[in-house]
Amino acid sequence: MIVMKFGGTSVGNADRIKNVANIVKSYVEKKPVVVVSAVSGITDKLIELANECSQGKGNEIFKHIKKTHYEILKKLGLQKSLIDRDIEELSKITNQIKIEKRIEKKILDSVQSFGEQMSSKIVAAQLNKIGVKAQAFNAWDLGFLTDSEFGSAEPLEITYSNLRESIKNLEIVPVITGFIAKTEYCAITTLGRGGSDYTAAIVGSAINADEIQIWTDVDGIMSTDPKIVSNAKNIDKVSFAEASELAYFGAKVLHPKTILPAMEKNIPVRVLSSMNPSGNGTIILNKAGKSEQIVKAIAHKKNITIINVESSRMLGAYWFLAKLFAVFDKYKKSVDVISTSEVSVSLTIDNEENLDKIVKELEAMAKVKVLRNKAIICVVGGGIKYTPGVGGRTFTALGKNNINVEMASQGASEVNLTFIVDGKEAEKTVKVLHEEFFGE
Ligand code: ADP
Ligand code: ASP
Ligand code: MG
Repeated sequence: MIVMKFGGTSVGNADRIKNVANIVKSYVEKKPVVVVSAVSGITDKLIELANECSQGKGNEIFKHIKKTHYEILKKLGLQKSLIDRDIEELSKITNQIKIEKRIEKKILDSVQSFGEQMSSKIVAAQLNKIGVKAQAFNAWDLGFLTDSEFGSAEPLEITYSNLRESIKNLEIVPVITGFIAKTEYCAITTLGRGGSDYTAAIVGSAINADEIQIWTDVDGIMSTDPKIVSNAKNIDKVSFAEASELAYFGAKVLHPKTILPAMEKNIPVRVLSSMNPSGNGTIILNKAGKSEQIVKAIAHKKNITIINVESSRMLGAYWFLAKLFAVFDKYKKSVDVISTSEVSVSLTIDNEENLDKIVKELEAMAKVKVLRNKAIICVVGGGIKYTPGVGGRTFTALGKNNINVEMASQGASEVNLTFIVDGKEAEKTVKVLHEEFFGE
């Protein structure tokens, strides 16, 4: 069995959906389990819809969402009634928001869930139309349960056996909603933006898939985001460790949580382009083998905030760091990059939820400075560990181009070199380093 996940652009319009159905048909002998995202742009529109409704507006966006889906159905020659119930339910929820004039995270997740609820039905219907017996499932119908962290829910342990049991005897191709699930108490949750990749990995792990395929709009993982560097190179193979670092530090092509479920079961993950189905894409394996290329890829992540904690007296004290991290722990705040000097600790975070509370608690212990609009740059490659000089080359190239490095650290996995620059310099930094390591 294989898992085939199709992202938003891959199901972005009627022609793309036809194309996806044909790709699935060509893999039918491998017993595919399909996972789909919402039609591209729809999750953003649903969030916008919820926000507008809380201010008593939203009619135009609602119409747009409805029209987009009905037009796709029409172009595919499928029944409009396929999604009538979803549209009706979405309308009910949005009316409720208009009455309450506010949106809780829980309601926002319910609203967002309709993107995947509708796209899965359309893809399943198109598969049936071309002779592949398929059925759409909301992930929760197959037992996908999560905790109640709305907006970034995590699967409950029982999800794995539930999915295994529900999927193993199906005689049709299941088309499962990515990104969404339910709590034990039937509230709809989402796994975080871009989370359909994570759904695919969880399903893959549950059924012990032979391979987890992530079908997207680029030919696999590339040496950097091709939207920034147009001649970014294809990469044949990367290791789980390399892929994790890339995804974690901003390579949007894979959701950062995708790797772990696959890695635990040693299931290869293949990233492929639905625009070029015969391409090789990138395979992510336990050990990607030695590559001539020391640096394999460069990722970046913007909107980073640095918190500088300075204390000449206490930093050396054995309890200081423990107390410092206890504050982050209390607010469930994950820290991306850390560097320390004799008198200060610098940490980065990628969203400002609870930042004011965190700063207040830290100020009771030390001097605190917050620096905004920074970017993390991450240079990744298994060879960095064994090859001296990567750091030298990186920082010399940056120096020559007047790019100031504000914080630097080499991850414990030693497959990456990570540092912070000003947000305005992010793209330039990626281009300079791409030229340094991949320029001909
Ligand atoms: P999907 O809708 O299929 O999930 P995403 O938009 O989430 O697709 O991810 C694909 C996008 O990731 C690409 O279009 C590309 O711009 C971006 N990207 C960022 N870094 C990389 C990289 N190193 N390799 C390939 N794509 C990347
Ligand atoms: N539709 C969701 C999003 O846009 C999940 C995904 O595409 O993976 O974030
Ligand atoms: Mg994605």
